[in-house]
Amino acid sequence: MELWYYETENSDLALQYHINQVLVLKQTDYQELAVVETDRFGRTLILDGAVQTTIKDEYVYHEMIAHVPLFTHPHPEKVLIIGGGDGGTVRETLKHKNVKEIHLVEIDPEVVAAAKEYLPEISCGLSDPRVFIHHTDGIKFVADHKNEYDLIIIDSSDPIGPAVGLFRAEFYANVYRALKDDGILVAQTESPWINADIIPDIYQGIKASFPITRMYLCYIPTYPCGMWSFTLGSKKYDPLKVDPAKITDLGYRYYTPHLHQASFALPQFVQEMIGEAAKK
Ligand code: SAM
Repeated sequence: MELWYYETENSDLALQYHINQVLVLKQTDYQELAVVETDRFGRTLILDGAVQTTIKDEYVYHEMIAHVPLFTHPHPEKVLIIGGGDGGTVRETLKHKNVKEIHLVEIDPEVVAAAKEYLPEISCGLSDPRVFIHHTDGIKFVADHKNEYDLIIIDSSDPIGPAVGLFRAEFYANVYRALKDDGILVAQTESPWINADIIPDIYQGIKASFPITRMYLCYIPTYPCGMWSFTLGSKKYDPLKVDPAKITDLGYRYYTPHLHQASFALPQFVQEMIGEAAKK
């Protein structure tokens, strides 16, 4: 029997994967969780019908969400990750030896359990003594902390279910307050091809709180239409002023010192989408 998984992006587009095994399929308290083995991308974590990460291409997203802000901040010691229960962002953050504590706030303990069982290559850092895992809502956690973190990474699922509030301006304002005076926020901010309807509000929501706000891009084959965006909000440090010579080699497969700068060069249609196009 042929097994296919398809992910609907919107009413007229789907991505389809040939799969050879369903490793787990269950309803958790928060979402439908599946881990399947696809022929092309290997083991794949799917939440509410959306691919979150795959063994073959996960490094693109995890390196770009972690190393860009970690090299923008000159001395990041205390890092908060909201979402990210697969552990990939933790694994990359742990490569920075100056980071002393990583707090991972993942609402769904079953995501962490599934990642530990089926995705050990990605979740391998979750038992590190520098990592503290909190199973609670990231929105409430952030509201309860003030002036505490050097870096807050929003490694959330798409804005549906428990993640909706992680894309709102009020949440980014609370992230601003949870950061120290020179802190940095980075958030995954969806696909410019598929989510053009929500990206302007997300970007402007971050810009409303942070004096330096910059979007950057990377290319992930299993995310809808490939092009993926992150938005960095910073109180003090500009990611474009990072000296490439200071970006040490921590063992990357995607990120490079040159790409750090280059990923902030946005196509014209993306600049226009977020209201940052130069006046013609
Ligand atoms: N790389 C992924 C992507 O963009 O598709 C995101 C990965 S990670 C698996 C996303 C996690 O965010 C999920 O495990 C989900 O349970 C968690 N999450 C969603 N809403 C949350 C909230 N309000 N607080 C904490 N975690 C949340």
